Amino acid sequence: MKRVHNFSAGPAAIPTEVLEIVRDELLDYRDTGTSIMEKSHRGKEYSEIDVQAKERLTRILGLQDDFHIMFLQGGASAQFMQVPMNFLDKDQTADYINTGVWSKKAIKEAKLFGKVHVPFSSEDEQFSRVSTKDELQLSDNPRYVHFTSNNTIYGTQYRVEPDSNGAPLICDASSDFLSREIDIDRYGLIYAGAQKNLGPSGVTVVIVRKNFLQTATKTDIPTILNYKTHAERIFNTPPTFAVYMVNLVLKWFEEKGGISYFEKLNDQKADLLYSAIDSDDFYRGTAQPNSRSKMNVTFRLPSEELEAKFLSKAAENDLVALKGHRSVGGIRASIYNACSLESVKALTDFMKHFRDKNG
Ligand SMILES: *Cc1c(COP(=O)(O)O)cnc(C)c1O
Repeated sequence: MKRVHNFSAGPAAIPTEVLEIVRDELLDYRDTGTSIMEKSHRGKEYSEIDVQAKERLTRILGLQDDFHIMFLQGGASAQFMQVPMNFLDKDQTADYINTGVWSKKAIKEAKLFGKVHVPFSSEDEQFSRVSTKDELQLSDNPRYVHFTSNNTIYGTQYRVEPDSNGAPLICDASSDFLSREIDIDRYGLIYAGAQKNLGPSGVTVVIVRKNFLQTATKTDIPTILNYKTHAERIFNTPPTFAVYMVNLVLKWFEEKGGISYFEKLNDQKADLLYSAIDSDDFYRGTAQPNSRSKMNVTFRLPSEELEAKFLSKAAENDLVALKGHRSVGGIRASIYNACSLESVKALTDFMKHFRDKNG
């Protein structure tokens, strides 16, 4: 068996230790004679997994009892619709910060339900940065302020939460969830598709503040799309296998040392990689320096020919999935929690070698 250095943007690398547990438990889950996939979502074993995963998230994020945690389906893309469907009425305005393709998709959906004000956009700068501290032009009294904490495609990330002037923040944290400390008090709702930093595809973690959910009073919402349907109980069949894997990833996450451990490790990995990019003119980072992402590191080479060669030589060296998003090209190394320091070292060693031969 061979495991390569996987820099996939998503679905992304899952810790080998977790995959080994999944393999070992696949046919016979804890002496029950069936796989966890073959069990009722109301049964003892799955209920335990659901409770454990929520307890772990509560512990990791320091949530107390003031948040609901839900495991929903439809990806982060469904949240683009579900958030305004629940929280935005026709005559209300929500502010949506526009820092990339995912933000734009969220804006498009919100406009189906209410008014959208865009307090900042970096579209005319090729989304090469996020907003700075005093730059947001918020509307008067927005229903909420939506932002994308990490822009997976452009390799930009907020260092700290944008200042919403007291309005609840709603965050698409799909590509940096649990990668660092956040100021949880400022959030009304956070959502993240699992397939980047949390496990396999098929489940989206949605965390909503209880007293913020109480302000959602619209009644014309289909049952399955109403957050209140899912807040207190398992309503219908959840993606049980995906949640099972998320729970194992969270267990691994806590055993390794939790958020402070991963924040430090992620800083180290990003520093290493950006130093390699900045060491001369051969590699060129595409994000503006103070917006650089610690999760998706995007860069270019002097020509597209060299980029193609870089990708194929990298793959020969077991460094895979480094191609930039199809909409922007170039190189993208996604270095989520499950990507080890060793993998990043292997990449920076390769980068030096490649530059020496081709620079
Ligand atoms: C990947 C990604 C999405 C899309 O997620 P789906 O699960 O495919 O809907 C949305 N937002 C961000 C920030 C992402 O990285």
